[in-house]
Amino acid sequence: MTGLLALFAFVIGAVIGSFLNVVIYRLPAGLSVVWPRSRCPHCGHTLTPLELVPILSWVAQRGRCRNCQAPIAIRYPLVEALTGVLFAAAALLRPEFPGLLLIWGFIALLIALAFIDLDTYELPWGLNYGGLALGLLGARLLGYPQPFSQALDGALIGAGFLAMINAFGVLLMLRGRNNAWTPPWGYPQINLAAAVGSWLGPAAGLVAGFLNVAFNLRSPKPFRIPDALALGLAVLGPLVALLIPGWGLTPLSSLRAWLLSAGGLALAGGIYWWVQEWRHPSAQTDDGDEVVAMGFGDVILMGFLGAWLGVANLGVALLLAVVAGAVIGLVVRRMTGENKIPFGPYLALGGLVAFFFGQDLIAWYLGYIGAR
Ligand SMILES: [Zn+2]
Repeated sequence: MTGLLALFAFVIGAVIGSFLNVVIYRLPAGLSVVWPRSRCPHCGHTLTPLELVPILSWVAQRGRCRNCQAPIAIRYPLVEALTGVLFAAAALLRPEFPGLLLIWGFIALLIALAFIDLDTYELPWGLNYGGLALGLLGARLLGYPQPFSQALDGALIGAGFLAMINAFGVLLMLRGRNNAWTPPWGYPQINLAAAVGSWLGPAAGLVAGFLNVAFNLRSPKPFRIPDALALGLAVLGPLVALLIPGWGLTPLSSLRAWLLSAGGLALAGGIYWWVQEWRHPSAQTDDGDEVVAMGFGDVILMGFLGAWLGVANLGVALLLAVVAGAVIGLVVRRMTGENKIPFGPYLALGGLVAFFFGQDLIAWYLGYIGAR
């Protein structure tokens, strides 16, 4: 029975993987992913239903177009096989419905994001926010894979944490000087929310950040507070909570409020810029002179993963991503001399492993250090 379910899941996965190949190829190019039917990129021959059978058609045609004999990249059947294997693994590990359908969506989105990031160094807004929305919706409607409050916490803290890694990284790179930004909404507003949140709690942090954005939308002279001041204040928050009795926040709740506030401004800001790009496709809403240590797509991807994993498992995912990125990135650099390494694929990999095995890894680690 389980074998049959796994086989069924593999076939579904391979078919979805075939569609993911189309998404990975067409979405960054701004093409429709549903129309027209797939063609050979070399001769334009429209693929027949038989030539669309995942994996097998590639094997049967020995990796060549049946019409013009041009080679078809082995990546296509590999993506199909990968999706099939992961769908089957999910069916074996989490066989309950309708949760399994949600998890298949989670896996499909991560595969598309990982390969698009490899190809283009971009993580499309739609896939990132689609994953975030699916995670929050599943939590809200089904309590799956975790309660809604934990999903929301994970999303905000995840995005906030990676935004802060970038903010502090850039502050170091610029030796405390202000970074460039594009009004009305950027890191200065995220950092302001972080500072106020760290001192006064998440509600105050979010209000301060959104007020700054609202002011910038109406005023011809956008307002920002200096990066070094905002981030310095944010760091002092937990210390104040520690040193002043009866402050109202503990050091931990101050840290939590700091990340929640930063994450709220980051995730909402991404939606703002996504809408801007959609309304003015030709306009330059790009970073300009802004220095970045970590792309904004990675920040949103952390929010997406947090909504599915919760804070603890997200920590495991990030750790795995950093280790895998360092090891594989070093090998890739040796082999290809490529210096620019996308982080998205490693985050996706860490997120998948931590989603299924995060609790086991935490338990194993606690046992290993003798905490249990
Ligand atoms: Zn052809």
